[in-house]
Amino acid sequence: MNDDREALRSRRQRVLAALPPLEEILRGSVFVRSLRCGKAGCRCVSGEGHRAVYLSVTLPGGRTEQISLPPELVRTAKQWVKNYTLWGKAVEELSAINRQVLRQRRRPATPSAGRPRRKRRRS
Ligand SMILES: [Zn+2]
Repeated sequence: MNDDREALRSRRQRVLAALPPLEEILRGSVFVRSLRCGKAGCRCVSGEGHRAVYLSVTLPGGRTEQISLPPELVRTAKQWVKNYTLWGKAVEELSAINRQVLRQRRRPATPSAGRPRRKRRRS
């Protein structure tokens, strides 16, 4: 029993230790767009457009905000977006662990005392 608790605690610690800094998260996605600048005779008229990178994020209410990213900020933005997904995964992982913590903590209680008798989907 105590071993189980210890194992859950160390799993939580591992999840926490692997997290990037919370202040470096960014919800959204980085995408590349090909633009035509409109100048006559530019290579983009016939060939490939100019590469432009953006961060795009959907805000509450469905509005989308886009920020153009200069080349020196692309890596940072991508990292922050990745950090956001890592935090999201960690939240789910910790929730799963904590469900087990709750199950464990109720086990030692006196059997059936005060416990709901309804059937649960999972125990
Ligand atoms: Zn052009």
